[in-house]
Amino acid sequence: MNATALEIRIVGDPALRKKAKRVSRVGPGHAKTLSDMARQMYDSKGIGLAAPQVGINECLIVVDIGTGLYKLINPRIVRRQGRQELEEGCLSVPGVYLKVRRARKIRVEALDETGAARTIDAEDLLACVFQHEIDHLEGKLIIDYASFLEKLSLNKKLRNIKNERLSEPQGQHTRL
Ligand code: ZN
Repeated sequence: MNATALEIRIVGDPALRKKAKRVSRVGPGHAKTLSDMARQMYDSKGIGLAAPQVGINECLIVVDIGTGLYKLINPRIVRRQGRQELEEGCLSVPGVYLKVRRARKIRVEALDETGAARTIDAEDLLACVFQHEIDHLEGKLIIDYASFLEKLSLNKKLRNIKNERLSEPQGQHTRL
């Protein structure tokens, strides 16, 4: 049986630029949405996905870098430490990879799918992915971190992405 497929929104879609709403009361609908998002993330071979990427205007993210699945509601970074700069891709910006400077270690506070409070300490790639997904909840994309020169070369590529959705991004890059 075919599960309900959530459609990944691509750069240019206004859903990606809205600030997501905090969840005031966790209900069974959120658990289902998080499961659907996780399925979409795995199907897309991504390691993270935020609700705005599937057109849902709520603070929900899923992350799995291969060390276990996180399904989080209202995630918030409460501590940042150090610096790192990894090359990031994004399921919503296919074919574009940019180095983004972020904190190397973070602490995230969130609710899980049952509404229970969770505190997660993350570093390196996991910290990067959480920061990337939480950016999505603020309507922020990796292209916003591009330098002026990078933006010049990105413009044509972004126009093409907006005109026609590219097929699967190539390579072993990080897709979030
Ligand atoms: Zn992304």
